[in-house]
Amino acid sequence: MRILVAGGGISGLATAVALGRRGHEVLVLEQRPLFAASGTGISLAPHAFQLLDRLGVGDAVRERSLTIDAFHVRDGSTGELVSSVALPACRRGACPTHATAHRLDVHEPLLDACWELDSVHLHADSRVVDYTEHPGSVTVGLADGRTLTGDALVLADGSHSLAHHRPEWAAGAPEGHLAVYRTVIPMELVADRWQDRATTCWVGRQWHISHHPLPDDAYLSVSATRHHHTGGGLFGDRVDLEQVLAAFPEIGYEARNLLTTGRHWRAWTAPRRRTPLGWARGRVALVGDSAHPARLLAASGIHDVLEDAVELGASWDTAEGGVADRLADYAAQREEQVRHGHAEFAAGRGRPQGGADRPHAHPVRPAGTAATAACGPVTSSSAARC
Ligand SMILES: Cc1cc2nc3c(=O)[nH]c(=O)nc-3n(C[C@H](O)[C@H](O)[C@H](O)COP(=O)(O)OP(=O)(O)OC[C@H]3O[C@@H](n4cnc5c(N)ncnc54)[C@H](O)[C@@H]3O)c2cc1C
Repeated sequence: MRILVAGGGISGLATAVALGRRGHEVLVLEQRPLFAASGTGISLAPHAFQLLDRLGVGDAVRERSLTIDAFHVRDGSTGELVSSVALPACRRGACPTHATAHRLDVHEPLLDACWELDSVHLHADSRVVDYTEHPGSVTVGLADGRTLTGDALVLADGSHSLAHHRPEWAAGAPEGHLAVYRTVIPMELVADRWQDRATTCWVGRQWHISHHPLPDDAYLSVSATRHHHTGGGLFGDRVDLEQVLAAFPEIGYEARNLLTTGRHWRAWTAPRRRTPLGWARGRVALVGDSAHPARLLAASGIHDVLEDAVELGASWDTAEGGVADRLADYAAQREEQVRHGHAEFAAGRGRPQGGADRPHAHPVRPAGTAATAACGPVTSSSAARC
């Protein structure tokens, strides 16, 4: 089987590993001149490590990551501590439980795994601009005029996917956009009280800010999300501090103080959709941000991405029939899992993760206040998401 993957981000590489390990020939087509991860830090829940283990890179990511001990929610305007969760330490040799990493710390082990697989071929400078399905194959057109044909196409091309412009996916216009402003701050510039091994989420009415230390405790990763963005699209553009502060006019003194420590800011916008586009049609599958709507807690994407890749690989093992049947199985599985996961999340139970890693929550103020409602119920799962 020959599978074309458009996009060499975390979802494209994870898909290539999942399918390449099963002996399929995989061509990963990345528009950029290099396979590299952009962005700053990510939070990893135990579930992410289980998925990375299934892709064979769990230990490599563990070695690079930093264990997190606690998750705090604060009111973004008053600074009041709303809720605090002590995250469980390593259990039964499974370490770390909750962690943070640079995005590169996930991307690079996946890239290494791709290099080690003879069946996976990585092509940089290969922007996919179009695709056509035929009865027994699918052809992609690249920006430089080349065409490539495979048995299936996986669109791992992020939140501005080609699929969003194709009538068959019926994406329609998004409800709006969110904007995320991100930076890393050298730890020596950060006030002592924000240097602990915790993820802290400051919640406002239409915004939230989260921060956590990165491996080696050398930097604090900060991500500030405006839930409704008006204005032009941002694609990792550099923005100055004044622009960041202007996006959060209601922010309280303490959270503002933290933002002012950041020097080098970049910003992204992502379309907001109520529901996923779906995961497969015919010989074309979506993985990662191309399939999932940007959630308000945009930092949750990594778990969805890894689940997509692992499940796509699993469908190739378990489903019977041709390519379209296997992809239809993948789509059905993911639809069910995402529906289940969202229901669990909404009910405050988080994603099912076995019993060992349940955190101990210490609500400082009754649940259901504006801040907890905006950030979601505090569970091990939401701790990793914020
Ligand atoms: C603004 C924002 C901030 C986020 N912050 C966090 C965070 O802090 N922590 C966290 O865990 N998650 C975060 N997420 C979510 C997480 O980054 C994503 O869910 C995850 O990285 C998506 O991976 P992906 O591979 O699907 O997409 P991407 O990472 O976007 O990768 C897509 C890749 O495809 C390539 N590509 C695009 N179009 C084409 C094309 N036509 N042809 C060829 N290649 C193409 C791109 O160059 C890119 O390499 C954030 C998401 C957004 C939108």
